[in-house]
Amino acid sequence: MKILNLNEGSFPIEMNLNLNSIDIPDIGTLKDTLDVELKISKLSLNLFKCDGYIYAKFIDTCQNCLRDTEVLVDGSVDITIKDIKELHLDSSEQDQTHYQDLEYFNIDNLIEEELALIYPDIVKCDRSCLEKEDALMDEKNLPFKKIRDLID
Ligand SMILES: [Zn+2]
Repeated sequence: MKILNLNEGSFPIEMNLNLNSIDIPDIGTLKDTLDVELKISKLSLNLFKCDGYIYAKFIDTCQNCLRDTEVLVDGSVDITIKDIKELHLDSSEQDQTHYQDLEYFNIDNLIEEELALIYPDIVKCDRSCLEKEDALMDEKNLPFKKIRDLID
């Protein structure tokens, strides 16, 4: 766990992290390391910007055939950081804003939030696994369709 005090120090803060674990429920098992490169810049008092990228490979389960499936997570980070105190004052409802205590800023929380956003909603062993199953279903239904045609 890495805690920064964003109220002090010099900017930009540049980080190159290789994490061995990440605490997010309902995602696959991390393979190798989670590689994160982040740069936090100060835009004005209480307003920061974070950009960089997250790269990792996970072993997850194909939602269709339940086979072990490698999931490549490779996404960029481009968000605004504000103090948690501003969460209720902010009416702009920007979803690209990350709120946290600036004095005890936990970089892991930010990484977890971003990773959860980047991680695919649907895990498939290959691009067409779900579609293939649909095609199979159609074929299985064909005899019934023929019988129905006969009845008609
Ligand atoms: Zn599959």
